Amino acid sequence: MRIPVNIFKTICEHLLPTACVICQEFQACSICIKCLGRLNDGALYNYQCCYQCGVALHESELTQQQCGSCQSLAPYFDETYCLDRYDGLLRHPLHELKYQKRIAFANALGNTWNLLLQKNLADISADYLLPVPLSNQKLALRGFNQSWEIAKRVRCEKQIQKSPYIIHRHHYSQHQAGSSLGNRYLAIQGMFYVEENYINALQNKTVIVFDDVMTSGATLNEIARVLKDNGVSRVINWVLLRAARPT
Ligand SMILES: [Zn+2]
Ligand SMILES: [Zn+2]
Repeated sequence: MRIPVNIFKTICEHLLPTACVICQEFQACSICIKCLGRLNDGALYNYQCCYQCGVALHESELTQQQCGSCQSLAPYFDETYCLDRYDGLLRHPLHELKYQKRIAFANALGNTWNLLLQKNLADISADYLLPVPLSNQKLALRGFNQSWEIAKRVRCEKQIQKSPYIIHRHHYSQHQAGSSLGNRYLAIQGMFYVEENYINALQNKTVIVFDDVMTSGATLNEIARVLKDNGVSRVINWVLLRAARPT
């Protein structure tokens, strides 16, 4: 008799049914087949996106595979892979995780990432996978870093070391939301630093930075700048939800 590899998981799914994080229907998995199908049909990763910053490309940009903004002023990061749009089906589950502190949603979001995107990213070779950090004050307030909670559930090659301790963030009281794009780039400068003990280990390495939401790209750009200033040779972003570019 062939014993299923995930026998424990299978038993748990039948004994402890749950609600789909998108449609709330009561069933076996944290995301149902119907919603997975809806995501798979319409998610951003199915579209032609800028290889560098992950936004959906306009027709005139398809040949270059790069958006006009990256063509005119290239960011410090090298590539960006996003699962879906910020205004798509996963925004609500992400908000439940971040603002209602429902950690189980990190599991559902990590599973969704693995089911839909893991195959596409299997060929990416890297040395580290690091979440965008929160400041210690923000971490104490929320109790967890949502990007790390998802990132640690994301499957990747075994040699890629995951760590939330390599990049740190200072706490500044100035709130980012609502600032103009120029101000956001200025406000974020000097916000991140690399833990001194890891600087040697990062030399000439490839680092994946995981973020739950990418909006202007200012945060990820500053992290990539700091990583490269500290000897990293290549920075790749993995992003759960990507905001559309301003129209
Ligand atoms: Zn569903
Ligand atoms: Zn771009």
